[in-house]
Amino acid sequence: MKIRKRFLPRTVQDGVATTFMAAIIPITFWFEVYVVIPGVHGVDSIYNWIHLGPALFLLFNISLNMLATIMCDTSCGSEIVQVPENVKVSSGLGSKSWHLCSTCEAVAPPRAWHCNTCGICVLKRDHHCVFTGCCIGHRNHRYFILFVLHLFIATLYGSILNNYFIWFVRGEEFRNWTSVMKIVFPLAMLMIDISTKQYYLVIYLINMVGMCFTGVLLIYHGKKMLSGTVVHESNSKDYDLGRLENVRMVLGKRWHLTWLSPFLESELPHNGINWDCVQKEARKAK
Ligand SMILES: [Zn+2]
Ligand SMILES: [Zn+2]
Repeated sequence: MKIRKRFLPRTVQDGVATTFMAAIIPITFWFEVYVVIPGVHGVDSIYNWIHLGPALFLLFNISLNMLATIMCDTSCGSEIVQVPENVKVSSGLGSKSWHLCSTCEAVAPPRAWHCNTCGICVLKRDHHCVFTGCCIGHRNHRYFILFVLHLFIATLYGSILNNYFIWFVRGEEFRNWTSVMKIVFPLAMLMIDISTKQYYLVIYLINMVGMCFTGVLLIYHGKKMLSGTVVHESNSKDYDLGRLENVRMVLGKRWHLTWLSPFLESELPHNGINWDCVQKEARKAK
């Protein structure tokens, strides 16, 4: 993996969102492992150890896929030196053909777009993600998809446990109108009532919102991946090679194992530069 040289967030918005993610992941892990699971099963229960396995697996995959998304260099870089013969280079922003990026003062291949926040042209650019403070493109698309997938599984898992813990195990303390008010106005209540119970409700709420948000993201980006498109290419069939091949284009040749670890080698079948041959294959496949 080629490492990005400048990986710190460039805007305040990116900085706030990335810091929030970097903080909430370990906080939620601590809450589930040290508060909720022993609360549900009892402090000495063997089930606490059984939950620890999947919890650590999810923490490992969420943190390291997030880090890999941030660290992986998916820019055009200096590799774009040779424009294929008989190819016209257009001027201005574009994604369907080779084009000249006036900001980078360099020629960029089809599907590459300039990101004003990152200040670079990104190969097969999907979108700029505020929660990682970087662009999602050809080389880090795999880590981003798996980051979202594991985040959804973790928030779903956490929310099931949290709902049981809050409303049943500690139901006597939480099943009242004050709790409902605190869930509806969490920040206001945090200023009035700074108690452990209040923090529990805030983490509970963040997990529930996170589960819905990552669920929607997973469906949206999953559909894009299956159809061989990116955010900028809405409903385009230009690079659609069939579902399996489209998944391989994002997750690599060992796509079926990538959910296990971001360290697992899964070579991408394409260099992210010469898309003409993919377009031809896609036309044949139709
Ligand atoms: Zn550029
Ligand atoms: Zn960007």
